[in-house]
Amino acid sequence: MNISENIQKYKEELGTEVSLVAISKTKPISEISEAYKAGQRIFGENKIQEMTTKWEALPKDIEWHMVGNVQRNKVKYMASYVNLVHTVDSLKLLKEINKEARKNERSISCLLQIKIAEEDSKSGISTEEAKGILNSEEFLKMQNVKVVGLMGMATFTEDMEQVRKEFQALNSVFKEFKINYPQLKILSMGMSGDYKIAVDCGSNMVRIGSAIFGGREAPQPPKGE
Ligand SMILES: *Cc1c(COP(=O)(O)O)cnc(C)c1O
Repeated sequence: MNISENIQKYKEELGTEVSLVAISKTKPISEISEAYKAGQRIFGENKIQEMTTKWEALPKDIEWHMVGNVQRNKVKYMASYVNLVHTVDSLKLLKEINKEARKNERSISCLLQIKIAEEDSKSGISTEEAKGILNSEEFLKMQNVKVVGLMGMATFTEDMEQVRKEFQALNSVFKEFKINYPQLKILSMGMSGDYKIAVDCGSNMVRIGSAIFGGREAPQPPKGE
C-alpha cells in the first residue's frame, strides 16, 4: 500500500464537502505518520486505549475520532483530547461523556449511531430512541457534550442495492431530524467498500481504513473493545 498516494487520491476525490476519517485501528504509529505527512489530520480508532497510546505519540494537531463501541468506564481516558465520538447509543453514555468532558473543562462532540443494517450484529439505536435522547431534559441540561450528527453502518453484504437502501434511509432520517435539531451537521456513513454509495446518498463524513492502510490481520468485530 502506498499510504500517501492513497490519502492524496481520497482527498482529491472527496473534495472539501466530505471529510475523510482515516481509520487507523491496528495500524502502527509509523503508518499513521506517513498519512499525516501526506496531509491527513483526522484519524479514527475503535479502541480507547490504543487511540490514547497513539494520541500520546503523535502530533497534537491530529483530530482523534472514536468509531468503536465505547465502554463507559473508559471514557475518562479519552476525555481530554477526543474530537468526535461517532458511536453514542445511549443517554447513559452521553451522561458519562458529559461528566468527563466537564472535568477537563471542554465540550465533546458526538454522533448518535443509528441502526440501519438488517444484521443484529451492528449496533446502534432506533430513530425513536435518538429522538428520545435529543428531547430528554437530562440531555438538554448537559453543557459539556454536543450532538452534532448521526452515524450509521450498512449491512455487510455484496448486495449494493441493499446498502444503498440503508444509506438512503439514514439520509432521510438525517434530513428530517435537521428540521427540529439544526445543530446536526454531520452524517457519518461509508467505509472502504461502500463510501461511494454513501456519498451519493448524502454522507459528508466517510470512514476509510483498509483502502488507505491495507487489510488488517484479523477481521474487526463490529463491537470494538
Ligand atoms: C473499521 C471501521 C471502519 C473502516 O473500515 P474499512 O472497511 O477498513 O474501511 C469504518 N467504520 C467503523 C465503525 C469501523 O469500525
